Amino acid sequence: MFPTVRLRRTRKNERIRDIFSEVSIDKEKMVMPIFVDETISGKQEIQNMPGIYRFSFDYFKNYVSEINDLGVKSVLLFGIPSHKDPTGSAAYDENGIVQRSIEYIKSKTDMITMADLCMCEYTDHGHCGILQGKEVDNDSTLEAYRKIARTYAQAGADIVAPSGMMDGQVGEIREELDYAGFKNTMIMAYSSKFASSLYGPFRDAAQSAPSFGDRRSYQMDFRNSNQAMREIELDIYEGADIVMVKPALFYLDLIERARDRFEMPLAAYNVSGEYAMLMHAVSSGILSKSAISEAITSIFRAGADIVISYFTEEIYRNGI
Ligand SMILES: [Zn+2]
Repeated sequence: MFPTVRLRRTRKNERIRDIFSEVSIDKEKMVMPIFVDETISGKQEIQNMPGIYRFSFDYFKNYVSEINDLGVKSVLLFGIPSHKDPTGSAAYDENGIVQRSIEYIKSKTDMITMADLCMCEYTDHGHCGILQGKEVDNDSTLEAYRKIARTYAQAGADIVAPSGMMDGQVGEIREELDYAGFKNTMIMAYSSKFASSLYGPFRDAAQSAPSFGDRRSYQMDFRNSNQAMREIELDIYEGADIVMVKPALFYLDLIERARDRFEMPLAAYNVSGEYAMLMHAVSSGILSKSAISEAITSIFRAGADIVISYFTEEIYRNGI
């Protein structure tokens, strides 16, 4: 008989468990999404996302100083414009809501400022690009993405984050940024972004639900994993600085696969539906609060370097 191998020795008490822990939630690597809304005054809690708000520009300023005081290191901006049209022109307005928000953060804080680059909040039809008939036209949309990228960089964004899943978007944006003299502006590519049911609360928040059809002709089919690797590979080739898997919790296998395969900074987006599910379960007593740390830890354990999550503020505020 072999002697019993006693791994329980490593779990004896909190301190011992801590020294044996292989991974932990690194809040410095977490990014807080912020919604800035030109159409409201004050702030409005987002339906089904308790504790998460849309802010008017004035309230956004207060919020920035609040989370900066908490020590939050990075934010990801989303804008809701007062003007929407078929071509989403407010997205590349130099005085647009995101552009002004970037400028404000950079003038007041050292926070890493990331800006989501898409058009679904800006088009009156809610699709992520410019339509030709009922289809989103890839290449004319890329022209618009170039303009958005340039205005974000001009405003001082550290990182632009194209999320529209147009083919070639990273390469086009990299070329535009380099040409316009923004060689140091980084690109975080939403490389494998799936057409997911988990974006529901976000769409309410960003008022970006498509008025017809859905996004399955550009976002990925959740049955595909090999293709997710191809998407990531292409974004690396086109010049992405960070690649991403979105959503996170139903896609941990892809985070792990990308981690093993690519020596690239890898982000994962813990999306609105994941937040809503956990918050509902915790606030109704179905799950204990430790479900949140278990979920976020699983994203880091799968191999994400950067986690974008609506829980970021709470983790800075109260730990987890
Ligand atoms: Zn979009």
